[in-house]
Amino acid sequence: MVTGSHRVFGCAANFVRGRTCVFCGSFRVNRTRRGYVKCRTCRRQKSLAKLRREIAILQGFSQQVPAYRLAHDLGVDPKVISRVYQKLRAAVFHIAELEGMASKLSGEIELDEAYFGGRRKGRRGRGAAGKRVVFGLLERDGRVYTKVVEHVSADTLMAHIQTTTRKGSVYDTDAFRG
Ligand SMILES: [Zn+2]
Repeated sequence: MVTGSHRVFGCAANFVRGRTCVFCGSFRVNRTRRGYVKCRTCRRQKSLAKLRREIAILQGFSQQVPAYRLAHDLGVDPKVISRVYQKLRAAVFHIAELEGMASKLSGEIELDEAYFGGRRKGRRGRGAAGKRVVFGLLERDGRVYTKVVEHVSADTLMAHIQTTTRKGSVYDTDAFRG
């Protein structure tokens, strides 16, 4: 993801256990009988059950757990998960675009193609119909660049690679000969 996910989810443990306020980070919190955490500093409150679900979705997204599987694990409607995933993907892309304006990706770069959307009917893999393709360029220090590409061909891929990387970067593709 955008920053080191281990550190992010390590911090999240305090929120999940109800020790820290999610809004202001204060440790002066009380637990209510209805399962809420109430902050004595900013006076806001948050349902622990809801917070745990939100963090589980974030973690699933960061670990690339498929939406239907996460939905099954959490007992939530798969549509809800895919909607949140879409918003997160858009947010990651937006941040990557903003960062991309300041500096192009450099250093060692991993290329990865991920297929999302729809049920797996018919053909799988590249060329499968009705699938949205998210193409990602992952930088080793954790910064990521993603772009939604509707039609994957060597040309479109190379065009994206060339606009987002500096010359001399290493292209490390997992069994991709595009
Ligand atoms: Zn607070």
